[in-house]
Amino acid sequence: MTTARIILKKGKEQSVRRYHPWIFSGAIADVKDAPGEGDIVEVYASDGTFLAMGHWSPGSIAVRILSFEKREPGQEFFREKLNQALRYRREAGVAGSDDTNVWRLVHGEGDGMPGLIIDIYGQVAVIQAHTAGFWKVRKMIAGLVPEITGGLVTSVYDKSEGTLPFMAKLDHVNGYIAGEDAGSGTIVKENGFRFRVDWDKGQKTGFFIDQRDNRNLLRQYSHGRKVLNMFGYSGGFSVYAMTNATEVHTVDSSSSAISLADENVSLNFDNDPRHKSFTEDAFSFMARMKNDYSLIILDPPAFAKHQSALDRALQGYRRLNAVALSKIKPGGILFTFSCSQVVSRDDFRRSVFVAAANTGRKVRIMHQTGQPPDHPVNIYHPESEYLKGLVLYVE
Ligand code: SAH
Repeated sequence: MTTARIILKKGKEQSVRRYHPWIFSGAIADVKDAPGEGDIVEVYASDGTFLAMGHWSPGSIAVRILSFEKREPGQEFFREKLNQALRYRREAGVAGSDDTNVWRLVHGEGDGMPGLIIDIYGQVAVIQAHTAGFWKVRKMIAGLVPEITGGLVTSVYDKSEGTLPFMAKLDHVNGYIAGEDAGSGTIVKENGFRFRVDWDKGQKTGFFIDQRDNRNLLRQYSHGRKVLNMFGYSGGFSVYAMTNATEVHTVDSSSSAISLADENVSLNFDNDPRHKSFTEDAFSFMARMKNDYSLIILDPPAFAKHQSALDRALQGYRRLNAVALSKIKPGGILFTFSCSQVVSRDDFRRSVFVAAANTGRKVRIMHQTGQPPDHPVNIYHPESEYLKGLVLYVE
């Protein structure tokens, strides 16, 4: 089979030469040997110079680049990429630590594998293909994970059902694709705390691994405070706050999230009356709550999934932060986040700034945070910096 060739318009090779991993459909002059969705294609400049190879999609991001060299994208190629991803996480101190066995092995563009996510929960890896390209090779990749981790991972669960492009009509069913069936969840350790993770029914691959360092930072400030964990999901921030806070309230609109949060708090702080949980909408809870929280966490779901929703998303961040900033107790600390990829760090900071100005409170930025090292940002792909956080001191 001949590999399809993509010829770019004149001048459009610039972004590829700067190692940006996406090629938009508007940059393409000609497509030779019509590729199918998920096929490997080779990309050439208008003068015929080879530039890159990657996975083809019929959408606006037409090619996701796997390599800027001409390589056979077979088992050896992916073995090398997975080994690099693992070595990096060992160097970063994430993989192989005694008190944390939940971490991300592959973070899409951040690891030169756009469209692939692999999260590790103890002995189980959960793999998520976001493209037809990775969906096609998922079994081969799953087979490599036990090998490259030296047997640390024994089973691989594929959870691509909700992440594959709808138009590709791949009819995916979630399930184990390597090793034995290891059930639908387990209890993992993060910085010594225990969490139940349900990768089968839970959100994302089961846990918001990306907040690990921010949860750890929170622990430094929760001492003696009354904490509100808004958008709490499985109670990650709540568990850390329970170490030293006077009271911790977890709020989420999903009742299954709240049961997980309760279970996780009990796993670490059994029968501790300092924790209470509420299944309720964020805005309704905040409208009726008292002004006595001295630490608030706002970690909402992505308000904007596409550029077109940016303005509304920014408005959402302004409204949400304005309520928290107006109601937080004097001397309070606000941990506020945005995980929308299309909202830049500047956009987010400006929204929070407008919210602060509207309340008239004196606000200092204590920390500007982001993603932990196992969710690396590809320096050539600013879009991979999706998690933005501000820690504010509110006078
Ligand atoms: N902070 C969490 C992750 C939060 S994910 C952690 O560290 O694990 C966002 C959460 O917001 C989801 O659990 C979702 O159920 C919840 N959510 C979405 N819309 C909501 C709303 N309007 N009110 C309250 N919770 C909401």
